[in-house]
Amino acid sequence: MANIDYQKMLDEVAAELRDIDDPGEVATYIPELRNVDSRKMGIHLVTIDNSHFYFGDSNEKFSIQSISKVLSLTLALKIVGDTVWDRVGVEPSGSAFNSLVQLEYEKGIPRNPLINAGAIVVCDILVDCLDNPKFRLLEFIRASTGISSIGYNPRMAESEKKCGYRNYALVNLMKDFGNIHNEIELVLDMYFHLCSIEMTCKELAQTFLFLAAGGVSPVVNEMIVSPRQTKRINSIMQMCGFYDEAGEFAFRTGLPGKSGVGGGIVAIHPGKFSVAVWSPKLNKKGNSYKGMKLLESVTTKSQSSIF
Ligand code: GLN
Repeated sequence: MANIDYQKMLDEVAAELRDIDDPGEVATYIPELRNVDSRKMGIHLVTIDNSHFYFGDSNEKFSIQSISKVLSLTLALKIVGDTVWDRVGVEPSGSAFNSLVQLEYEKGIPRNPLINAGAIVVCDILVDCLDNPKFRLLEFIRASTGISSIGYNPRMAESEKKCGYRNYALVNLMKDFGNIHNEIELVLDMYFHLCSIEMTCKELAQTFLFLAAGGVSPVVNEMIVSPRQTKRINSIMQMCGFYDEAGEFAFRTGLPGKSGVGGGIVAIHPGKFSVAVWSPKLNKKGNSYKGMKLLESVTTKSQSSIF
C-alpha cells in the first residue's frame, strides 16, 4: 500500500457519501449535543510518517464523547498497570453503552473499559491515584500530542451532569457492589468532564497515532505506552469500541476503532495510519451513521483493513 494516493481516495469517499440520505439522528439525551449542526462532515487521515490528508469540516472542534474513554484507560494503565483488570473485564458487552442489565448479573464488574460502567471505574481509579485527575488527564493528552488547545467544554460537562440519570444508576450499582472506592460525585465529575473533551478530526487522528505506531507518538516522538499495552488497547477497541455494533464495524471496516455520541469515530491501522471522521447523526446503536460508511469506504478503497 506504499503508493496509495490517500488524498484522491478521501476525495472519492467524500464525493460518494456527502449527499447520501442520512436516516440517523443527532443525540438528544444530552441537551448540549442538540445544538450541533447535523450537516457537518469531516475526515482526517494521518500516516505514521506524518503525512496529512483531509476533507470537509476536519478542522472544527466537536465533542469526542466516549472516544476519550480510550485515553483515560491509557493513562490508568500507565499509572497502575494491569491492576486495572482486577476491576473491569476485557470482553465485548454485546449491549448498549449505558446498559445496566449485565452489571447486576456480573456483580458490579463492567464487561470492558469502553462501556460507560467500565469508563466510570477507570475514572474512579484515576480519582484514587491522582491529586488533580481532571488536570492530569488533560496534561497527559496535551503532552502526548503537543496540542495545548485540547480541553474540556464545561457547558457539555454540566449538561451531562443534569441528565446523567443512567450514569448515576450505573455508579450507584457499582458502589453497592464495592467496585467504586471514591465519592460518587467526584467520580462522575471526572467522567462527565472526560466525555466533554473537544477535538477536531485532525487533533483526534493525531492523538491516536501512537496506537498505530506501537505505542510511540510520532507527533512528539515519545513512548506513550509499551508495545504490549498498545496491543491490548487496540484489541479492546476492536472488540468493544462500538458497543453492540463492534462486530458490524469489524465486519465492514476491519480496523480497531472507537466511536462517540458526538458523531466522531477514530480508527487506526497498526503500522500505517490513524483516521478520524465526524458526522453528528447517529444510527440506532449510537454510532455515526455516515462515519461508519466513510470508514468502510476508506478501508475498501485502500484495501487496508487488518484482516
Ligand atoms: N457522555 C455519554 C454518556 O455518558 C457518552 C456515551 C457515548 O459517547 N457513547 O452517555
